Formats: sequence, C-alpha cells, structure tokens
Amino acid sequence: MSSKKNPEKTQRKRMSLAMQIFIALILAIIAGLLMQKYSDFAVSYIKPFGTIFLNLVKFIVGPIVLFSIMSGVISLKDIRKVESIGGITVVYYFCTTAVATVIGLVIANLFHGFFPVLETSSLTYEAPAATSPMDVIVNIFPSNFLAPITEANMLQVIVMALLIGFAVILIGESASAAVNGINRWNDIFMKVMEMILKLSPLGVFALLCPVVAENGAKVIGSLAMVLLAAYIGYLLHAIVVYSLTVRTLGGLSPIEFFKGMMPAILFAFSSASSVGTLPLNMECTEELGASKEVSSFVLPLGATINMDGTAIYQGVCAIFIASCYGIHLTLSQMVKIVLTATLASVGTAGVPGAGMIMLAMVLASVGLPIDGIALVAGVDRIFDMGRTTLNITGDASCAIIVSNFLRKKK
Ligand code: ASP
Repeated sequence: MSSKKNPEKTQRKRMSLAMQIFIALILAIIAGLLMQKYSDFAVSYIKPFGTIFLNLVKFIVGPIVLFSIMSGVISLKDIRKVESIGGITVVYYFCTTAVATVIGLVIANLFHGFFPVLETSSLTYEAPAATSPMDVIVNIFPSNFLAPITEANMLQVIVMALLIGFAVILIGESASAAVNGINRWNDIFMKVMEMILKLSPLGVFALLCPVVAENGAKVIGSLAMVLLAAYIGYLLHAIVVYSLTVRTLGGLSPIEFFKGMMPAILFAFSSASSVGTLPLNMECTEELGASKEVSSFVLPLGATINMDGTAIYQGVCAIFIASCYGIHLTLSQMVKIVLTATLASVGTAGVPGAGMIMLAMVLASVGLPIDGIALVAGVDRIFDMGRTTLNITGDASCAIIVSNFLRKKK
C-alpha cells in the first residue's frame, strides 16, 4: 500500500496470497463435498470463523471508504475533476448494469423451456417491506453524522466523504493540517486492512466449506437450470462486455485484466461481499495500472452502487418466478424490469444476500408475487457468489478505464 514498498517483494507476497486463497477455495470445496452428511457440524463450527473474518472486514470497510474517498477527492485538488471522474463512472456503471439486466432477461428467455414448473401454492416468503425506487434515492443522503458509519450505510458514507472532501478543497491552504491528518489516518486504516487480509485464506475456507456442505445436493435438484442460466449470464457479461470495455476504453488486454484480478475474483466468489472485497480489489486494480486517486474513488462507489451480477440474477429470477407461476411477461414489463433492476442495484448493499432482498422491488414493479422469492432463496448463496464476482470485476474495469482516460487527458 505504501509507496515505499519494494515492488518485487510486493509482487511475490501478493502472488502467494492469491495462491493461498486459491488453495483455500479448492480445499473448501473438497472438504464441503466430503462433509455433506455433516453439514450441521460445518455450519455450527466452521462457519463462525468465516463470520469472524467477515466481521473484521466489515469493521474496517467503513473507515476505509470514508478516508480513501476523502483522501482521493482531496488529492484531485479540483472539484471539476472529481465531477468529471464521477460523471464518467456513474454513466459507465448505469450503462453496464442496464446491459447486464438485458443479458439476464435474454438468457432466461432462452432457458425458459428448460425451467421446471415448481409448486407455488404453498409458498410463503417473509418479504421485508418492498423498497420503492424513491426510497433508494432518499436513502442516499445521511441525516446524522455517525449513523452512516455505525449502520455501515456505504452510500451515505460516500456522500459524507464527498462533502468533507469538497469542503477541504474549497478551504484550501488553511486546511492543510486536516489534509495531512486525513492522509495519515488513511494510511493507518489501510495498514489495519492489510493485517486483516492476511487472514483471507482462512476466511475463504471457513466461508465456503459450509456452503458446499449445505447446498451440494440441492444444486443438483430442480434449481440447477436457473443457476446455470445465471452463471452463463455472468460469464457472458464478463467475457463480452468487460473484455470489450477494458480493451477499447482501458487500453488493457482482457487476459491481463482477468489474470491480475484473480485474487479479488477468488475472494469475492468465496465471501459474496463486494464491500468486503474492496481492499483486495484496490490492490489488484492498482497493480494493473489504475491510479490510486481513481481507484480509491471509483471502487468504493462501485462496491456500493454498481452491481451487474445482481442485475443479471434479478432478470433471470424474475423470468424464472414468472414461469413457475405460469405468468407470461410482456415486452413492456421486461423494459420495466431493466429500469428497476438498474435502480435496485444502486440500493443493494455489497454484503451477502442483499440482492435477494432487492429482488422484491423488481418483482413488485411488474406485479409478480413476492412469495416467489422462496423458490430461489434456498440456493441464494450460490447465485450470490457468482453475482458478487461479477459486481467487483465491473468496478475494477471502470477503475482501469477512468485511469486510462485521465492519463490520456494529461
Ligand atoms: N452480495 C452481493 C455483493 O456484495 C450483493 C448481492 O447480494 O447481490 O455484491
């Protein structure tokens, strides 16, 4: 993280962390498959270690987002520059998410004939009050100075960081002590994060093993086709959309991009948390050439508002649920799904399971029964692992593109 590091040493260390995470992932799958009969044990005694790890990550993420965005904004020194980076970022995020939903809908329609018709009469899903699109917008703005951090409401933390960062720029010279303070605290929190990240192989194992032990058998059942449709959508979006944007707008070979992203990808897959993957994502993108000032602004924003994988999942599940209820969606309903899923992705928190809660909003927008969520809830974690992986890869592609744009502008 600090600029004085020996690059060769960093490379070796990071390579080995990626390798460790990969080994942990393979071991977790093997152990999970072997423990299918003892899934209670895995859930009671292995999962808690994953929870501890995830808690530590969540604990550090608030301060990291707050300080890295403040320090990123301040280092840009110019509010216009922040606005132009913010503008490109938000447009890219919205466009790719809308494309993602379309991909999800197309794939699900192609798979339509293969979806099983599941029994829906006895379904009940304790749906949280479906969020309205306007709520999503209102919830962006904090009403209290501490609540955004204590409630880990990242969108509000971002707004806070932007306001404070802008104020520091406007005050100018006389705020230099504060600038120094913000930068030093940023270094300190980054260090804490580095310490926590050393535990990630252990965390990955403890998070993934119980999931495999619990879901291994279920997946082979009736939900295999919907899962397959979602994963084909995730893969297609990554291979077509990101490869294209990274190459044409980011000036980076897609192979190099995906290779460099591997540690973050593996971590996101196991943890199912974009926000939790943020620290590792920052490391990977910076090593791929994204500038620190860009990644410290674009990635926290992306981990909060940009969820292409979640959008694909919502498109696929909407069609699947409709087909289980024997409902045929019209083209205008599909367009509505694209719009609501894009907005829902802004309101989805970067934590495990959040996308499923926002699915209620998408279903409600086209009058589909919210109880239908119960059909896919049992394997949500498996959907989530893939959608989170795509979510963070999308954020990283944006960091590469915006950095390239700024380099060219200089
Ligand atoms: N788990 C996802 C993420 O962190 C959000 C979701 O549930 O879709 O990106």
